[in-house]
Amino acid sequence: RLQAVAKAKEAAESGAPTLFDKIVSRQIPSTVVYEDDKVLAFRDISPQAPVHIIIIPKDRDGLTQLSKAEERHTEILGHLMVTAAVVAKQEGLVDGFRVVVNDGVQGCQSVYHLHLHLLGGRQMNWPPG
Ligand code: ADP
Repeated sequence: RLQAVAKAKEAAESGAPTLFDKIVSRQIPSTVVYEDDKVLAFRDISPQAPVHIIIIPKDRDGLTQLSKAEERHTEILGHLMVTAAVVAKQEGLVDGFRVVVNDGVQGCQSVYHLHLHLLGGRQMNWPPG
């Protein structure tokens, strides 16, 4: 798995379409729950909670992972967070939810296209694994 992850990371950094680019272009099907001109939100294929949604920038613009964030990404990063709040409300998560960004190997990131995980619908625990 680590080898596959390293390959995906390399491909994304070279600018090749990521799995999530293919979801944006509808080459790979997904269940979209929210979309505007800048972001796309869709259900995670392997949900870790009753509600598990992935929120991504449509244009990666070098944001393979959060540690690559630069000044020019400030607006899209803010927009992703606001989208998490909008989608949480739309999903009826009135008692709370969790937003996670996994970065790199130790963060257990497997898709190198920056994304938020929106998780809810059950009691979360802390610390995470
Ligand atoms: P991890 O796989 O360790 O959670 P990431 O933070 O990179 O690492 O998350 C990628 C997420 O994308 C995973 O939760 C995975 O289930 C999800 N995913 C992978 N392929 C698809 C797909 N085709 N449609 C929807 N979600 C997907």
